[in-house]
Amino acid sequence: MQILLVEDDLPLAKGLQQALGKQGYVVNHVGTGEAALHVVEYDKPDIVVLDIGLPDIDGISVLKKVRAKDKELPVLMLTARDGLDDKVAGLDSGADDYLVKPFEMTELLARLRVLERRITSVKSNDITVGKVCLDTVAQSVSVDGQPVDLARREYMLLKSLMENAGRVQTRSVLETRLYTWGEEVSSNAVEVHIHRLRKKLGNDFIKTIRGVGYKINLEQGA
Ligand code: CA
Repeated sequence: MQILLVEDDLPLAKGLQQALGKQGYVVNHVGTGEAALHVVEYDKPDIVVLDIGLPDIDGISVLKKVRAKDKELPVLMLTARDGLDDKVAGLDSGADDYLVKPFEMTELLARLRVLERRITSVKSNDITVGKVCLDTVAQSVSVDGQPVDLARREYMLLKSLMENAGRVQTRSVLETRLYTWGEEVSSNAVEVHIHRLRKKLGNDFIKTIRGVGYKINLEQGA
């Protein structure tokens, strides 16, 4: 999952970026409402985490502008402790959820999982396709009940594919779910991770759609 974090508190943003990164999210960060609107228009994320108090346009106005064009994009708002009016205004403006600062990381993660379930076909924290099972809470993967050790990006790639099992994911979309802006990405990075995943999961689990991307092969002998 690729998250756009809109937050002008830099230490908080950095902390979230790191913590969420360890949990298999790719987090891109902007510090202003204008920048957020630009990104949503031209480089759409999977989920937006939007602070209400921003230096230029406030988060509620950002949300209204986003919603005018996009009703579906999941938006989780961050509000100040005493900001009850903000909460109400946020939900009225089309926020999917909100968190009051300061919040526990575990709570943010749980709420992100809810938003993820909403935008994928997966309805629980476990995703099972054929003999492969992925646990999004423990971030673990097993094949035929046997745990398999995956590198962080292998896990992120597999998760993105399994959340969309049967649907083709283009190479460029997969790349945005593996690397943040500015990270050095070699042109065959996704292929390399796919190759490693196939070694660990078996060759027929992930199907290559030539010239387009990859998908989980639902027709395999489950
Ligand atoms: Ca703020």
